[in-house]
Amino acid sequence: MTDIITALIDGETISAGEAPIPVVNPADDTLIVELPEADDATVDRAVAAARRSFDEGAWRAMAVEKRQAVLRRCADLIDAAADMLADIECANTGIPRAQIRNRSILRAADNFRFFADYIGQSVGALYEQNPDYLTFVRREPVGVAALISPWNSPLALGSMKIASSIAFGNSCVLKPSEQAPLGISKLVSILGEAGLPEGVVNLVNGRGASTGDRLIRNPGVDVVTFTGGTPTGRVIMRTAGELLKPATVELGGKSANIIFDDADFEQAVDGALLGIFTNNGQQCLAGSRILVQRGIADRFIEAFVERARKIRIGDPLDAATEIGPLVSQRHMQHVLSFVPGAGAEGETLLTGGRRAPQFDRGCYVEPTIVRADSNDRRVCQEEIFGPFAALMVFDTDEEAYRIANASRFGLVSYVWSQNIARIMEAQERIEAGIVWCNTPMMRELRAPFGGYKDSGVGADGGAACEAFYTRQKTVTIPRRPIALRKLGV
Ligand code: NDP
Repeated sequence: MTDIITALIDGETISAGEAPIPVVNPADDTLIVELPEADDATVDRAVAAARRSFDEGAWRAMAVEKRQAVLRRCADLIDAAADMLADIECANTGIPRAQIRNRSILRAADNFRFFADYIGQSVGALYEQNPDYLTFVRREPVGVAALISPWNSPLALGSMKIASSIAFGNSCVLKPSEQAPLGISKLVSILGEAGLPEGVVNLVNGRGASTGDRLIRNPGVDVVTFTGGTPTGRVIMRTAGELLKPATVELGGKSANIIFDDADFEQAVDGALLGIFTNNGQQCLAGSRILVQRGIADRFIEAFVERARKIRIGDPLDAATEIGPLVSQRHMQHVLSFVPGAGAEGETLLTGGRRAPQFDRGCYVEPTIVRADSNDRRVCQEEIFGPFAALMVFDTDEEAYRIANASRFGLVSYVWSQNIARIMEAQERIEAGIVWCNTPMMRELRAPFGGYKDSGVGADGGAACEAFYTRQKTVTIPRRPIALRKLGV
């Protein structure tokens, strides 16, 4: 039986509200639970709890060593609950359980350990150039953070937002996606045993346009952080801008994966498959536009398509499954709407392109590869967010950079070459926040993760999160008694 968690406020679970949200298992389309939506009053209560906990200061004023110990306990609790969390997340999202257990949950625990370590080393600044004064700069927590997270990797992304906001002494209210709220709600509920003071971490479940919007607008919220689609990101930025609340938005992508003719062939094939088909292809950082150089194109495409056809699609609970169902019927229809129809110009379907016929229920889509003759094609410009690769062939390095950069997105990119000079040139020329060279998806938590262009504003990562979740305070003190000008003498 799945818990009904409409909200978690001050450590208390609330299971009541209106407008129930059906939460469905995409593996068989069965209803798991109906979650009543957190209404305005519940959202306001959650923010009030966060506000009170922040203002009272039990967490923000706690000695750093103690705060670190609590964050590390959060990580330990996540580790201890890993199997249970994996079961819930798998049922709710359709992502293969093995990927959740071995990647997302380890990441969720790591997020807390990483920020526990980080705050033990963070320092302010001191300016002592002026002979008469010392000026130092301290960082203080910003207050209450509204955290809005998407459905594609709820545990990893939701935990990143919680860990990074509270590590610096803030309180927070998380609103997960209405489509995949179960795993992250459970994760938040187990954090209660870590020793966090009441009200530091709160959660509200509900729809974006109602619960999410109410949360952002609440005057008790100081900053907003959002991960999700680009259209929603614009709405969030507009709202936050009107209210003069700092906001970071991490948005969509259509990332280029450039395979030069001197790449390690096997590695490039493996990397391209992982880059597009991990997490059922529902990844902001997916290498969804594969650009391959003509000299190796036929060989690469043949190997890539052959391997994609062999990917094991199936029950996400099965440890052998490599691709599970997409998150919902609606999303499956969205993904399938990109499959070129018969006689489509400029796009050739190389494999997949249909609902997997061996399943009579669930949202299973075959790994799909389309070859496009131009980067202007819809499959090359829009984020599909599924197991769907668009392939293009290029001749020169210049052409590869031109194609890679001809996108409104600029989240990540991938480059494969054994020539270091080529790699160095490529990392400079590509317009994207992250460039992975000869590796897929290596996330370095210390470094910023954020996109260029329509892929976002702001970043996650050690120093990037510190800058966002803290305010700088400049303090100036005379070094010795000073003679002030006397007015009115
Ligand atoms: P959405 O933009 O649909 O939703 C993201 C979150 O915002 C959800 O919790 C949603 O709630 C909420 N929301 C929607 N409208 C509003 C509103 N008006 N005010 C406040 N909150 C709102 O994204 P998806 O959940 O569909 O996630 C997929 C997208 O996320 C993809 O584009 C993907 O690329 C991107 N993404 C980006 C990442 C990055 O780091 N750059 C990482 C992972 C994903 P609800 O679902 O309840 O409507």
